[in-house]
Amino acid sequence: MLYYKTNEEIELVRESSLLVAKTLAEVAKAIRPGITTIELDRIAEEFIRDNQGVPAFLNYHGFPNSLCISVNAQVVHGIPNKDELKDGDICSVDCGVVKNGFYGDSAYTFALGDVDAETLQLLKVTRESLLKGIEKAVAGNRLGDVSSAIQEHAESFGFGVVRELVGHGIGRHLHEKPEVPNYGKRGSGLVLKEGLVIAIEPMINMGTKSVVHEKDGWTIRTADRKPSAHFEHTVAIRKETADILSSFKFIEEVLEKNINTKVTY
Ligand code: MG
Ligand code: MG
Repeated sequence: MLYYKTNEEIELVRESSLLVAKTLAEVAKAIRPGITTIELDRIAEEFIRDNQGVPAFLNYHGFPNSLCISVNAQVVHGIPNKDELKDGDICSVDCGVVKNGFYGDSAYTFALGDVDAETLQLLKVTRESLLKGIEKAVAGNRLGDVSSAIQEHAESFGFGVVRELVGHGIGRHLHEKPEVPNYGKRGSGLVLKEGLVIAIEPMINMGTKSVVHEKDGWTIRTADRKPSAHFEHTVAIRKETADILSSFKFIEEVLEKNINTKVTY
């Protein structure tokens, strides 16, 4: 079942997605070598609740926190903990909220301090892959056009595109149909129609595309322990160009002033 949203419903998804964007900007203000990921989680949960939202990931299938925080070789679904972030780490922060009955979902990978050039390029290319996919997310195109645009860009740099985890429809539920893979064939799959709202979220590995589950039952990491990056936007399908409902603007305004992070775009 595909749920096509009215304009009123899309505005509610936008409100939730912008709360996610502003929450990630609060994370951007605080993130630095020496901070623990559980502290970032606390900052995010407080900000979400102060803005009349509810953290979407907290208790989702038993997930224990408000943010998924995945460091270095961790791909996604990392559990915040008391370990301190270090100079040279990359840190993917994934955030979801529900407000007024509608969900928003977005993720950003931060570079802390002295990150090596190859890893900075991985972040840049992953962010670009997301935007290449979004460019194709317009009415009349097919889902495979979005997927292949992401895959082709990432693989042109020799990076691995994770297969096991995919983007998704979003609205009254965090995860709705359709699945939005980050790999696929141009001209294949579902024809996109106005009103469909999807979360597009490339997970791109520096090395092999293969991933494994950590023993905690949640964390996914790269099989070769090389770094992985993750960027995500919630977008509505429209006729001419996709309507990006989340935003990196608030995050990146902060990053430009934060001496502890590297700007990678
Ligand atoms: Mg997400
Ligand atoms: Mg998502």
